[in-house]
Amino acid sequence: MTTKTSKMPVIFIGHGSPMNALADNAFTNSLKEVSRRIETPTAILVVSAHWITNGVELQGGKNPKTIHDFGGFPQALFDIQYPAKGVPELARELELLKVGKVTEDWGLDHGAWTILRHIYPQADIPVFQMSLNANMTFKEHFELAKEIKFLRERGVLIIGSGNIVHNLRQINWKEDSAPFEWAIEFDELIKESIVKRNYSPIINILSENPTLAKTAHPTFEHFVPLLYTLGASSEKDELSSIFEGIQNASISMRSFILG
Ligand code: ZN
Repeated sequence: MTTKTSKMPVIFIGHGSPMNALADNAFTNSLKEVSRRIETPTAILVVSAHWITNGVELQGGKNPKTIHDFGGFPQALFDIQYPAKGVPELARELELLKVGKVTEDWGLDHGAWTILRHIYPQADIPVFQMSLNANMTFKEHFELAKEIKFLRERGVLIIGSGNIVHNLRQINWKEDSAPFEWAIEFDELIKESIVKRNYSPIINILSENPTLAKTAHPTFEHFVPLLYTLGASSEKDELSSIFEGIQNASISMRSFILG
């Protein structure tokens, strides 16, 4: 691992089932490679699908707790701790910039720790989270991401953690089930926009392709973190894949680096 000397990339991770935290599969193996592919960050900011609030909140505690925000999974998953330190000074700084409000009530939800334990298993890089404001449009999320983009120059790794396709209503709990056609179609459509750096079809997906979008996302909380990764990116950022594939028939695990 090298020490940070230039601008950090931005990352999007499709986190999928919490069980990936315990899994040893092609997806988790690709996460394990990430730390070798990028410079070591000074801190990590995760924008997770699993923290939705009225107004933007910033996790500002020194020792964020590991939140097991799910039910019906094996005890081994509840036993996992990810003891990374917080980054209270950065949370405060973003608050002063009016990005959001600092809170110590949150910690690290499973959108953060299930992937971080594969990327940085030592939990030796401080992590904080920024919530999704439930009252914002896709365009507003995308624009807000531009206000946190400067953190990249400070060695902060910004990670959007959601899923490009996420339909739990049609999920097949067998991990390698054949993907639905609509899942492949939506995943490809988003991929093409990212490859072309043409984000307007993504930001305007609800008006341009509402039926497909609502099939891929009966609710949009897993889609929105993508808008942060894209909004915090620059045209010059190089795109490189971390993983692509669909788990459980209806969950796209597409994950990538821009930078
Ligand atoms: Zn999730």
